[in-house]
Amino acid sequence: MKIVRFEGGIGVLDEHGVVDVTAAAGETLHALLVGGADALERVRAASAQNAARQDVRLLAPVTDHPRIFGIGLNYAEHATESKMKTQAVPTVFMKLASSVCGPGDEIILPKNATEPDYEAELAVVIGRGGFRIAAADWQQHVFGYTIVNDVSARDVQLATSQWTLGKSFPTFTPVGPCIVTADELGDPHELEIALTIDGEELQHSNTRHLIFRVPQLIEYISSIVPLEPGDIISTGTPQGVGLGREPKRWLKPNEEIVITVQGIGELRNRTKAEA
Ligand code: ZN
Repeated sequence: MKIVRFEGGIGVLDEHGVVDVTAAAGETLHALLVGGADALERVRAASAQNAARQDVRLLAPVTDHPRIFGIGLNYAEHATESKMKTQAVPTVFMKLASSVCGPGDEIILPKNATEPDYEAELAVVIGRGGFRIAAADWQQHVFGYTIVNDVSARDVQLATSQWTLGKSFPTFTPVGPCIVTADELGDPHELEIALTIDGEELQHSNTRHLIFRVPQLIEYISSIVPLEPGDIISTGTPQGVGLGREPKRWLKPNEEIVITVQGIGELRNRTKAEA
């Protein structure tokens, strides 16, 4: 199933539009995430009974104030283009919840950032939380998958060794359009991932090239920080970002960025200059 969030509710996306399953989901995305198989079954049943609507505007499919763990340098060719070494353990940084925006929302290019850049990423949505999760148990903790654009102001990000602020300007974390449940997506390590700007393909890879895979990321992060329902782990971006191009290519106002991940869909956002 493809789970979406819209103003005032939770829905299931099908070929006809969005079916409202808010009551069956338990009113919030958080309730659905912690509701386990029973809640998913109720949602599945409700989605078969109710009619689809096309007049809903999708919101980012995230819980209130989500924790967003970003993974750096998780594709070898991207590490090389960034002139950084691949690491012995995952590079983990945070993107602040205040930077989240939804599908179709504008990405605001800040006045005080000269090098805004894009990053197409597969993201994992945690369902059941846990501390010190074994890699072998990873599937018990994954609710599903979505798409993140890890927008990054390189001038701010790389001014110091700390990446959080340079990746956390308002609207720098588009998420969506939906969360595909883990049972529907299957193996997250065999997915085509691509990014275009105004139709020009700038990134194209496959998640089989992830250095640290989802089980290892869950094991590593949860060995230090207990994972919670609604946590998002954005697994890192492949090669082709603006930073790695010759000449470097920064985002400009009024460009349309489309990220496609196989089995999930398209995350589409336009850029806009800060007023
Ligand atoms: Zn990233």
